[in-house]
Amino acid sequence: MEPPSIPPLATPAGLTNLTEEEHLFQAAARAFAAREITPHVKEMDRSGAFKQTLIDDFFAQGYMSIIVPEAYGGAGGSFFMAVLAIEEFSSVDASAGVVIDVQNTLVSNAILRWATEEQKRIFLPRLTRDTVGAYALSEPNSGSDAFALETRARDDGDSFVLDGRKLWITNAQEAGLFIVFATINRELGYRGITAFLVERGATGLIVGKKEDKLGIRASSTCELILDHCRVPKAQVLGDISKGYKVAIETLNEGRIGIAAQATGIAAGAWRHAVAYAKQRRQFGRPIAEFQALQFQLARLATEVEAARLMTYNAARLKDAGRPFVKEAAMAKYFCSQVAERVASEAVEVYGGYGFTRDYPVEKYLRDSKITKIYEGTSFMQLQTIAKLILSAQDL
Ligand SMILES: Cc1cc2nc3c(=O)[nH]c(=O)nc-3n(C[C@H](O)[C@H](O)[C@H](O)COP(=O)(O)OP(=O)(O)OC[C@H]3O[C@@H](n4cnc5c(N)ncnc54)[C@H](O)[C@@H]3O)c2cc1C
Repeated sequence: MEPPSIPPLATPAGLTNLTEEEHLFQAAARAFAAREITPHVKEMDRSGAFKQTLIDDFFAQGYMSIIVPEAYGGAGGSFFMAVLAIEEFSSVDASAGVVIDVQNTLVSNAILRWATEEQKRIFLPRLTRDTVGAYALSEPNSGSDAFALETRARDDGDSFVLDGRKLWITNAQEAGLFIVFATINRELGYRGITAFLVERGATGLIVGKKEDKLGIRASSTCELILDHCRVPKAQVLGDISKGYKVAIETLNEGRIGIAAQATGIAAGAWRHAVAYAKQRRQFGRPIAEFQALQFQLARLATEVEAARLMTYNAARLKDAGRPFVKEAAMAKYFCSQVAERVASEAVEVYGGYGFTRDYPVEKYLRDSKITKIYEGTSFMQLQTIAKLILSAQDL
């Protein structure tokens, strides 16, 4: 039931109905992914490195600034359009999906929401033109318990001096701008947390070890060392001591992007499975002619559709300014399961070939795993959902 203060909309269309603009955008993202990303997927996965010229293309085509208003040089699109692009990119390569996901749904999104006008005028045109962004919250001893972070920010005249270590920072290798969360006083608990805009050239900022991962291998994941890193006070993002709000509210929105990534992984694995089932012959006929395979593909298609509907619904609610946190957590929780299940069964549809790196589906299975972990593990999503359903007045 809708909250009483928000009037219902006119009869809404089906969630997968797109506007003309969204439809054109989705078709362009799909064609771009097939033409420009697909040829590099295997080598990027093997080498564990994202192709810089591809990131340059993402900037040139506006995929790094989908949600940034045109006034700051961006594409001026909606959050929903970012979700469409993340899904399309992830259907060919989840690493490509997360590059544009972090840039749009975490970094630009946080700046649009919390930065001063002056900060927006400085940083958004860069994020639009050529600067990759990264979001540095997690630490060695603080993951799910994000507000237990230990990185300190000491007030020192017209700057803060940051000391600590961040872990698992996506895009860190390529990034020119980091949103770094630190505490001005650990005794204040979450009320000490403050967000900072830290540029790559800042003294005392060191991008450390890059992880060698199971999946999304091309996406860089690095530690970040802050060793007396001096950040001007003009680069505090949001209010001092209100960094916890920046973190929570950005991640509430960002997890819709991860649901889109998971949906894309599932859709991509499913498409490969269908194409393979139509051409692989056993017992004198294509395996797609066996009812068992048909039912398996139908079941997986149903799961992909459900994942997409949940993702689109959460994104539409967010764009409409309606409550969306429960729907976003449910979408991430569910879509990450669908991604893993569909990718796993796609491997089975391929039989022995699916188990080898010569064929594309095993990578989808490896890539799917991360969607259950980052931007809040599945248990953390359940915790959010449980809190919201148990406190709701209207069940
Ligand atoms: C590839 C990759 C990219 C990442 N990118 C970023 C990034 O860009 N920026 C960033 O800040 N972070 C990033 N992360 C970090 C990610 O968000 C954390 O790994 C995640 O939040 C989990 O934290 P943790 O690894 O410390 O696990 P832990 O918090 O130690 O959790 C371990 C297990 O315990 C469970 N658990 C913990 N607490 C509870 C509880 N109260 N109730 C029930 N179960 C619980 C968890 O669900 C999990 O199963 C990334 C991680 C990876 C692997």
